[in-house]
Amino acid sequence: MTPPVAARATQSAASSLQSRLKDPSLLRDRCYIDGAWVGTPEFAVNNPATGVELIKIPQLSADDATTAVEAAERAFPAWAKLTAKQRSNILRKWFDLIIANREDLALILTSEQGKPLAEALGEVDIGAAYVEFFAEEARRVYGETIPTQRPDARLLAIRQPIGVCGAITPWNFPNSMITRKVSPALAAGCTVVLKPANETPLSALALVALAEKAGVPKGVFNIITGDAPPIGKVLCEHPAVRFVGFTGSTEVGKILYRQASVGVKKLGLELGGNAPFVVFDDADIDAAVEGAIVSKYRNMGQTCVCANRLYAQDKIYDAFVTKLSKKVAEMKIGDGTEQGVTQGPLINMEAIEKVERHIADAVKGGAKIVTGGKRSSLGRSFFEPTVLSDVRPDALVSHEETFGPLAPVIRFKDEADVIAMCNASPFGLASYFYSRDIGRVWRVAEALESGMVGVNSGLITTEVAPFGGVKESGLGREGSRHGMDEYVEIKYVMMAGV
Ligand code: NAP
Repeated sequence: MTPPVAARATQSAASSLQSRLKDPSLLRDRCYIDGAWVGTPEFAVNNPATGVELIKIPQLSADDATTAVEAAERAFPAWAKLTAKQRSNILRKWFDLIIANREDLALILTSEQGKPLAEALGEVDIGAAYVEFFAEEARRVYGETIPTQRPDARLLAIRQPIGVCGAITPWNFPNSMITRKVSPALAAGCTVVLKPANETPLSALALVALAEKAGVPKGVFNIITGDAPPIGKVLCEHPAVRFVGFTGSTEVGKILYRQASVGVKKLGLELGGNAPFVVFDDADIDAAVEGAIVSKYRNMGQTCVCANRLYAQDKIYDAFVTKLSKKVAEMKIGDGTEQGVTQGPLINMEAIEKVERHIADAVKGGAKIVTGGKRSSLGRSFFEPTVLSDVRPDALVSHEETFGPLAPVIRFKDEADVIAMCNASPFGLASYFYSRDIGRVWRVAEALESGMVGVNSGLITTEVAPFGGVKESGLGREGSRHGMDEYVEIKYVMMAGV
């Protein structure tokens, strides 16, 4: 094994981070292809809270991506041939190692991504929960027998691993977006080539280091970092790759969709959202405020399922805005590793500029800034968590995903109007609403055009439920037993001459 960074690190942010890890070997600066740590560190990964370079990672090329795909192709037959129990046991060991190293993984995650440490620990736990769930699910990839239409024949459908899978993941959940793809793939008997986001590759490299320790054979799980477009093209167009799983923006998802059409590849797309969060007159307002906080401000609003536009009904509008802004004003901004911090930095300055654009547009249309509204005095990409009232339904923020700590509250009068506003979007990932009227709960849950609906809850993600969107928010589902369907093909077998 190539030595981890420790052997080479100079007195730097990398060695300082390493000194805080119980297992310093989890901080890696090489890619992992065919069971070897490869590449030359040359591309900087920065800590968004300090602006300081943490480490450099390799910039691999399209040729390296091809090498990784070929390694995954060679590894596939033997991995697919293992029994489900053998694969399950290896995944279970990976899960145990992730849990045993959860503090280190969380610290690496916060250092490269910025979210508060408590949230990073939560992400590592849900990331591990996917591995645990699919370790169990590996043993339940059942087929079926089909009542025959011919007396001399018997019919069955078996489910087989699809083959080599490409995976491309974003920076906002650098741990769980990986395990949500890789663990069902490995459980089904597939092999994987993963390209994590350039901003946050360190969580991915730590995860593969633990997978190696757990006994995942060489070539089964490969990671490459580098320029995304050429690597993505290889993953979409190489004939050996049979499935590409992507989480990220709708814009990039559409590029991959086009590229994958060349070889008619199966695609899983978890794309952008524009989640409405509706509070009806009959809601428990305090519960709705709690839900809005967790849905809107988790990960500083950089969550694909986070509430993007909030609708509050006439009678409770003022009370909701007052209670929400009071809580938001109390949030502590700072480096995510500091005690009590609930709002870290945004990922970069473009993210800040987008939040500012949405605020300026809403204010131009008559909105009022109730709290926040500007960059934090901490500088860099810290932004004050913001609540806007009197936002017009046609404001820019109601059409575009902000991906920042901005809650624009729009007033509405009746149920039909708010459903129409919620559905007037090309996106359909998550929706939330608060109501205690059981009839309304059913009507609205059924009417909302989104893949997921939170009723009286602002937090819906769990490994046991199907995660995914409709319309331009994507294709397919991750997590739950449905998450396995992406990684298997159904083969029909007729046995005649019985
Ligand atoms: P992004 O720009 O689309 O990047 C996502 C990944 O795609 C990164 O690894 C990126 O690599 C790579 N990429 C960029 N251009 C590519 C290309 N031409 N070909 C192949 N890969 C390419 O998205 P992001 O800004 O990181 O993430 C935020 C978006 O993700 C938001 O829209 C959010 O809603 C969405 N998201 C959706 C879900 C979901 O489950 N539906 C979950 C989380 C996030 P580089 O980093 O190297 O550029």
